[in-house]
Amino acid sequence: MTEFIRPQPGILDIDLYQGGAAHVAGRSDAVKLSSNENPFGPSDKAKEVFQRAVHKLHRYPSTDHAALRQAIGDVHRLDPARIICGVGSDEIIGLLCNAYAGKGDEVVFTEHGFLMYRIYTMAAGARPVVVKERDRTTDVDAILAACRAKTRLVFIANPNNPTGTMIGLPEIERLAAGLPQQAILVIDGAYAEYVDGYDGGATLVTARENVVMTRTFSKIYGLGGLRIGWGYGPKHIIDVLNRVRGPFNLSSAQLETAEAAVRDQDHVVRCRTDNARMRGWLAEALAEMGVPSDTSTANFILARFASREEAEACDDFLQTQGLIVRRVAGYGLPNCLRITIGDEASCRRVAHAIGQFKGQR
Ligand SMILES: *Cc1c(COP(=O)(O)O)cnc(C)c1O
Repeated sequence: MTEFIRPQPGILDIDLYQGGAAHVAGRSDAVKLSSNENPFGPSDKAKEVFQRAVHKLHRYPSTDHAALRQAIGDVHRLDPARIICGVGSDEIIGLLCNAYAGKGDEVVFTEHGFLMYRIYTMAAGARPVVVKERDRTTDVDAILAACRAKTRLVFIANPNNPTGTMIGLPEIERLAAGLPQQAILVIDGAYAEYVDGYDGGATLVTARENVVMTRTFSKIYGLGGLRIGWGYGPKHIIDVLNRVRGPFNLSSAQLETAEAAVRDQDHVVRCRTDNARMRGWLAEALAEMGVPSDTSTANFILARFASREEAEACDDFLQTQGLIVRRVAGYGLPNCLRITIGDEASCRRVAHAIGQFKGQR
């Protein structure tokens, strides 16, 4: 950097996002439970379509994503004209911040909220406003109290990451109804498919002018490596986001694979069912060892230890056993470890190892 060449204010205050670790030195059999990935991967139908995409690589992809938006609309019974697709839901979050927040504006999210809200807020030159949660759960009254004339966006993840907790639709509706007129509520539904019967807030979006829902193919669809997400919102907001979105943001391989994935809802149901079974099993097994967690509605649990020291010692021990989980001190939860629900063998391995760790102490 020179005295003359400088980025926009706020950019150098952004801390680099740290992804979940993927390797343990010296082990080839390590199990990665640090990024909330689906242990079963994507639907076979999606994999077949991805393989066929190789024959069309010389063609530019669609710019309007019509086929994928139609497929999402069919499956979720939503108007495709109100859907936008992006490079992960991260891109949708980024587009919202770029289009609606700037210098002098505020963006509200909760203390244990997803780190990308802060990063995109600061990249847009706006100010992050962090609101307390109540018992690691979104507190609607605290959010409403933090809103002012400068508030442009409010982000909540429901279910939330890394806490795994969620609030009910009546609470979200109360939040949407109580926001100042110029503010948009964004409901991040990255884990919505893990909650049987939950629409991610879609009905609320349909009914209101100030609510956007974001969704992803990275979690239950098992396509984190391919980078596809989508948003559903009022027409006036989707029109704005489409103006700032790159026309070729998604490749033909991404678009076609996502379309096949969303049309295979049997795969989604199988993954949801298995996740719920193993999540219940793991939470109970850990609770019996003196490691409690809040009731999780997602594909991970937030294991609580007595102290930061104990959580870190447990993480160190798990690594020696080839088990990679996520430290969440960066999310304001230093005494916790976030553990993704893997397949049955991985859940048994992690429970066994934590049992050994607790037994040694
Ligand atoms: C994983 C996750 C996402 C998904 O991000 P993508 O860019 O779609 O991979 C979004 N929000 C939260 C809270 C998440 O945990």
